[in-house]
Amino acid sequence: MSKNEQLFERARQHIPGGVNSPVRAFGSVGGTPRFFSKGEGAYVWDADGKRYIDYVGSWGPLILGHAHPAVIEAVERAARNGLSFGAPTEAEIDLADLLCELLPSMQQVRLVSSGTEATMSAIRLARGFTGRDKLIKFEGCYHGHADSLLVKAGSGLLTFGNPSSAGVPAAVAADTIVLPYNDVAALQAVFAEQGSQIAALIVEPVAGNMNLVPASAEFVAAMRQLTQDHGALLIYDEVMTGFRVGLGCAQGLHGITPDLTCLGKVVGGGMPLAAFGGRADVMNKLAPLGPVYQAGTLSGNPVAVAAGMATLNILRQPGFYAQLAANTQLLCDGLTDAARQAGVAFCARAVGGMFGVYFSAEPPASYADVMASDRAAFNRFFHAMLEEGVYLAPSAFEAGFVSFSHTTVDLRQTVESAAKALLVR
Ligand code: PMP
Repeated sequence: MSKNEQLFERARQHIPGGVNSPVRAFGSVGGTPRFFSKGEGAYVWDADGKRYIDYVGSWGPLILGHAHPAVIEAVERAARNGLSFGAPTEAEIDLADLLCELLPSMQQVRLVSSGTEATMSAIRLARGFTGRDKLIKFEGCYHGHADSLLVKAGSGLLTFGNPSSAGVPAAVAADTIVLPYNDVAALQAVFAEQGSQIAALIVEPVAGNMNLVPASAEFVAAMRQLTQDHGALLIYDEVMTGFRVGLGCAQGLHGITPDLTCLGKVVGGGMPLAAFGGRADVMNKLAPLGPVYQAGTLSGNPVAVAAGMATLNILRQPGFYAQLAANTQLLCDGLTDAARQAGVAFCARAVGGMFGVYFSAEPPASYADVMASDRAAFNRFFHAMLEEGVYLAPSAFEAGFVSFSHTTVDLRQTVESAAKALLVR
């Protein structure tokens, strides 16, 4: 038995399914999850000592690669001064200032510890601000695991075939209206019927939890216009896209000013840190200023803030995103060529430093399209790539991530591996 297999057996004794987050269990692709013991730059090593080129990057945060020296140094320095105070610190002001500088839509921001907390809090705030209860979300978008958001969500819920979770009271789910992604007519119809009851619309501006599906320009414009016309708030869930698709995030690419934005992943540089922020008149409704309660023992944790700040300081350097996007495109082009040569129905698409691969002839525009792609082909490809030493997200429904540590040599090596993996039938 390999060390990975031994660890998985041991893990299952005291951890449900052997994992602390469902998709890690390889439920969709089958086989034994890899237990990692080390990461450096673009690489991770598993418990059996096998090295992989990593395209998961802890599901997005590690835009600089694993254990970037500047981030590690910042973390070490902060940790020596104390792990947590539960009192304000200067460093969190610096991070808040920087976030508000980088995102013009963000006049005020609050730090939290996970993307789930950010979206959950943003929605409570939107409801408190508008005095309305209803929420619009889109099929296949995942916004963390708060009750009202676990309705037809993406990510692990698609993998495990239960797009809505047990344990969510029907009354809570009843206030969540789920619409097809990129469907302007459906959106118009709902606002025409129920516009005065809608507190907020939450969206992944580039959906990364049903593989990768960008919002169309018409869809983006309609979301902004309809929410504004009906007094509902537009919440951009940029937990995945924030500082991943560009320094101005997806809202910068779209030229859109959302009312609220949720950040996570990259903003914490690999530590538990996330944020939500936006219009000052809305954010001022939060306690202690206003009636909407939200809090956290570890919110603004100094070690996490240090990791986030160190990461953002590197991202701000000129040319960072141009190179990241060029490398990600290089990978997608290489994979597409390899698939064409192998005669496999396949496409790949990049937005900044995130990418999607689909086993279908046309790139998907909706959840229905994603569900129609060849999952069995993905699973074969995933395992063949793993064998080759390339670690992809263990599910056909997740986006992939290229980091600044991936060199063109790594990317070419990946394409060579794919050329072989695509031949596995
Ligand atoms: N929103 C989006 C768009 C996400 O991709 C995720 C996590 N993948 C979340 C929210 C939830 O973040 P977390 O896992 O940190 O709670």
